[in-house]
Amino acid sequence: MTDTVWLPEAMTRFRCNQQGCCCKQWNIRMDVESVFHIVQELPDDRTGEILDGARVIRDPADGKVVSLDLRRRAPDDRCVFLEPELTCEVHRKLGGDALPKLCQAFPVTSVRHGDRLQLAWDPICPEVLERIAESDGPYPVTAAACGPGTPLASRVVTPQPLPEIEIGGVALTPDELAALSARVTAHLESGARPALDLLASANAAVARAVTGGPDALSLDPDEDVSDFDEFFEWCVGAHDGRTLWGFVRQYRRFVFAVPLPPAPWGDQDALFEYDPDWRAVVDPRDPALDGFLRRYLAHRFFSAFERSPATGFVAFNYGSVNHTLGSAFRVAVGLSRWLGRPVDKDVMKVAVGASEYLFRTLSLPAVAMPWFRLDVNEKLTLLEEDQTPGSTEG
Ligand code: SF4
Repeated sequence: MTDTVWLPEAMTRFRCNQQGCCCKQWNIRMDVESVFHIVQELPDDRTGEILDGARVIRDPADGKVVSLDLRRRAPDDRCVFLEPELTCEVHRKLGGDALPKLCQAFPVTSVRHGDRLQLAWDPICPEVLERIAESDGPYPVTAAACGPGTPLASRVVTPQPLPEIEIGGVALTPDELAALSARVTAHLESGARPALDLLASANAAVARAVTGGPDALSLDPDEDVSDFDEFFEWCVGAHDGRTLWGFVRQYRRFVFAVPLPPAPWGDQDALFEYDPDWRAVVDPRDPALDGFLRRYLAHRFFSAFERSPATGFVAFNYGSVNHTLGSAFRVAVGLSRWLGRPVDKDVMKVAVGASEYLFRTLSLPAVAMPWFRLDVNEKLTLLEEDQTPGSTEG
């Protein structure tokens, strides 16, 4: 058991904003041991309210109760423990160690690959986005202590084991995988060209590796990737305005970077429809956005070669980087039109967060998306070898 964990250095400064944004309007699956401990420790008269309407989740293998979905409460579909002041009753009365494991870890997924333990920080969280945006400089990865008593100890309470990972039919050791990931992130943060062009050449290299193995992952910032813009346009146009506006509405509880008008907001679908002239509203190579975009891409590629615990498919994480960024530009254009302000770094943070939310919520099969320089037959082959169709992470 290692007591060292790898994470983006910027995330060592992560602090929860204490706004309760992740404590409402979605399912919070709580491990049964934590819930039983909480019920035991809180006064008797809370028991009925806490457990009323709870859904029991069993392990399909042995039928044991493993977790509970507690019924959410008015006025805003919130966790039964979220107090009016946005404090957590469990944390306040019983301490951080009593929180359900999911709450202790969020917004982090800890992933174990051999002896290597790595933390993936979810960019739907506004504080994760703030740390990504805190400078335009490099985005290094660092090792930190995560043993008992350290600030990161709670983030690694439920590490997910990764199965063996292959690229192009070649199995990778954890160190080889980390080295590949480090090469891509170093390429992205080099600043040799705008972020979108570095993403394009990273895509070209990954496409070579998916068919030719890890040795084919050669990164050349000057590579001719003039065909990338056409591919990226597919990513930008992938969703209709109604879908994107719907996710912006759902994401509003995470929005602190820009002021939003008071609700109700009415129907703004049309503002989020695909506009072939979207580059007139936001230049994807705008130098003012480029530092943030390079750091965001480095953040995503830090875990791009991991097999997602939810999907068991290594390549999808890479694929979703392009699609998430494409939808983020669409959301940025819609936000600009709706809020009557230009797309700056703050708008882009919200747009990226909302787009990340979309791709985590929709279970989009990787085969349904365009892939740069990989044809459908190659994708289908990959799916047969590496993935249970339809089990992808959104
Ligand atoms: S238990 Fe506390 S931290 Fe977890 S979701 Fe509920 S209010 Fe939030």
